[in-house]
Amino acid sequence: LIQVNDLKKIFGENEVLKGINGNIQTGQVICVIGPSGSGKSTFLRCLNMLEQPTSGQIIFDGKDLTKFTHKEVATLGERIGMVFQSFNLFPNMTVLDNMKLAPKKVKHMMDQEATEVSLKLLDRVGLKEKANVYPSSLSGGQAQRVAMARALAMNPQVMLFDEPTSALDPEMVGEVLEVMQELANEGMTMVVVTHEMGFAKKVADEVWFMADGYIQEKNTPDQLFDHPENERTKEFINKII
Ligand code: ATP
Ligand code: MG
Repeated sequence: LIQVNDLKKIFGENEVLKGINGNIQTGQVICVIGPSGSGKSTFLRCLNMLEQPTSGQIIFDGKDLTKFTHKEVATLGERIGMVFQSFNLFPNMTVLDNMKLAPKKVKHMMDQEATEVSLKLLDRVGLKEKANVYPSSLSGGQAQRVAMARALAMNPQVMLFDEPTSALDPEMVGEVLEVMQELANEGMTMVVVTHEMGFAKKVADEVWFMADGYIQEKNTPDQLFDHPENERTKEFINKII
């Protein structure tokens, strides 16, 4: 579904991504791990063109996103959902209005349909009763589940997650991971930057270890965590376990 070829991103003199290669198949869950500052967020932001890559290709559904104009990327971008560490909900809108905004604006969905779609997704993340409250009255875990439902309302082909649980109190991590696991079980294609190694072990088809601007090692979670081959990977795994 997504093929990344020699992706590079340079900020000024800082060469953050030095040549990333990888394939993401439909239905696959890829977890990206690696030290702070290694470029994980930059990589995700390049995948949906929130960040313009310096060079390289991102072939999404047969088309090279890096060759597209802003407008074309915006249209394709609808098909790539993203969930951030901070939930980015609009504080002056109810949960339901937050959810309806993009489907109505971008997809030109009628109000009633947008309401139906949104309520169904809120139900799916276990928050139907929160439709008419404002984000400030939600817990972190609830806000993140709303953010997920909101991204799903655009009916994306891929979901990108950038450390979706790292801003949460520990007791709320589980409820967010649970929704993500359900999504994975239903066959959603997902790329997840995470420090939750338990989640990666259980849910990922592949784990990609990123450091020094490259994917140093790609493997099944069992192999990568229990039998890392690359020295940088070994060092990292030893530190976190
Ligand atoms: P963390 O685990 O802390 O989230 P990360 O792996 O996500 O780290 P990135 O946020 O991708 O790392 O940052 C990688 C490097 O790119 C850092 O040195 C950062 O300072 C730099 N960087 C990121 N975004 C920008 C930007 N918009 N302008 C300049 N430099 C940037
Ligand atoms: Mg990051």
